[in-house]
Amino acid sequence: MLLLKLLKLLFTRSKKQETMNLVQKFIPDGTPCDTKKKLEKIESITIHWTGPYPGQSPSDVRDWWVNSKGEASAHFIVKDSEVLQCWPTNKVAWHAGCKQGNDTSVGIEVIPMNVEGEFSKLSIKTLRQLLDTLPLVPIIRHYDWTGKECPKYYCNSRWEQLLKELGRL
Ligand SMILES: [Zn+2]
Repeated sequence: MLLLKLLKLLFTRSKKQETMNLVQKFIPDGTPCDTKKKLEKIESITIHWTGPYPGQSPSDVRDWWVNSKGEASAHFIVKDSEVLQCWPTNKVAWHAGCKQGNDTSVGIEVIPMNVEGEFSKLSIKTLRQLLDTLPLVPIIRHYDWTGKECPKYYCNSRWEQLLKELGRL
């Protein structure tokens, strides 16, 4: 009986750790990265990587957007089971590098697990859970908008494998 309880506890705990932990902490209106523009209709979701900095936390990335005063940010930042939402999805964010992309696409940044830019298995699982909460629209890369090497590890045939893992191929 005790063993059964213990097993149940372990199972519940490991299950809990693998569930997406979404925190909404919107960037204040009027910050330089605030586009002040409404995203009328979500037509796609754009995946990014945050660069070769696996040690960053989602808050570090958000702080950088806010403090660098640059015209860049995205809606979500994913790392393992963590999701930090920085903008509501009905607001335009500067992430795609072109007007059409910004005006129609929700941006998701993923913090990679290594400098090559690979996403961890847990990040991929979380990304899938997050995508399931968003409209069913094409999942594309920053690379598909402008040719920028983003997300770097997936600017090749690995992208199809990733889409498969996300249940979108
Ligand atoms: Zn990007």
